[in-house]
Amino acid sequence: TPVELPEMMQAAVVTEAGGPENFQWREVPVPLPSANQVLIETAATGLNFIETYQRSGLYDVPYPFIPGSEASGTVVAVGDQVGNVTVGDRVATASGAETYAQFFVAPADKLLPVPDTLDLVEAAAVPLQGMTAHYLCRSTYEVSAGDNVFLTAGAGGVGQLLTQMCKHLGANVYTVVSTDEKRKIAEAAGAHGVFSYDDFGDKLHEVTDGVGVDVAYDAVGADTFDTSLASVRVRGMIVLFGAASGPVPPFDLQRLNAEGALFTTRPSLAHYTRTGDEVAWRAQEIFGWLSEGALQLSVDQRYDLADAADAHRALEARKTTGKTVLVP
Ligand code: NDP
Repeated sequence: TPVELPEMMQAAVVTEAGGPENFQWREVPVPLPSANQVLIETAATGLNFIETYQRSGLYDVPYPFIPGSEASGTVVAVGDQVGNVTVGDRVATASGAETYAQFFVAPADKLLPVPDTLDLVEAAAVPLQGMTAHYLCRSTYEVSAGDNVFLTAGAGGVGQLLTQMCKHLGANVYTVVSTDEKRKIAEAAGAHGVFSYDDFGDKLHEVTDGVGVDVAYDAVGADTFDTSLASVRVRGMIVLFGAASGPVPPFDLQRLNAEGALFTTRPSLAHYTRTGDEVAWRAQEIFGWLSEGALQLSVDQRYDLADAADAHRALEARKTTGKTVLVP
């Protein structure tokens, strides 16, 4: 490790499972990169819904816990076996460890080089939510021109990116949001129809002439899953990728028959970013769309990392739109 690096740093630590009040801004050791890792000085860490599940105890993690896997920054040290990046490189990743901190380590083969044209703080909005939207519409179900696509929370982080990508691929995009302000944001992202939670099932029936959508991407979970399922066409696909309103109860596979020989899956990003090549392919398409203007980032909230608790409160109270970044 180069001598100029500090031994200690500040991090947002969750002391035990529970509410946002369990965050503490604490001094902890700077991690050391192993042979295939790099150490990165954090420019910004991306806030993601999963960190609320880990903080609350919905997902099992060991406490005290430093959340975070998505972040951007500058490489400050590299492991012995690392050949693809050097100190000073601007990078972002969805595979970082404990990124709610001033420094974090990440595997060298899962880094996205950040183009000079992109602000390093904004770059924290790309890896996790960008690659999630990408794998959903390019791999889980390959969206093509003319498809009717439904996705939940169209004004949200993943929601706005997925809307823009599906639209770019030629699909008609329908979504559901909770407020008028969010309706405008989802429309601006390119949604053809933005519905409310009360009647999105009826509306999807109407806009598809009773046929149903080709694919439904549902990350709201408990509150929406049944209606999403009923809105998919015969032999279409229902993709459950989150649980913002709570987990979906146990599911009888026979329902897929009753609804019309549907396909279903419950994917996660790790299964779609298994190799460096796969990460590089996704990153290349995403940065390509960004530079063409087909895709725009909406970093709508910035918090000091020390105020991570406030950011969690806002996300869980449905007060955020687009991306939230935490800056140390
Ligand atoms: P968002 O910015 O989309 O925020 C969540 C949104 O969900 C809210 O703004 C809200 O929008 C909606 N929502 C509906 N019901 C609730 C509720 N009861 N409490 C809180 N929010 C609710 O977050 P992200 O973009 O970070 O993530 C979106 C979803 O995608 C999450 O469920 C997340 O877990 C999932 N995800 C899954 C991944 C995977 O690979 N499987 C990877 C990344 C994210 P509105 O007010 O309009 O209803």
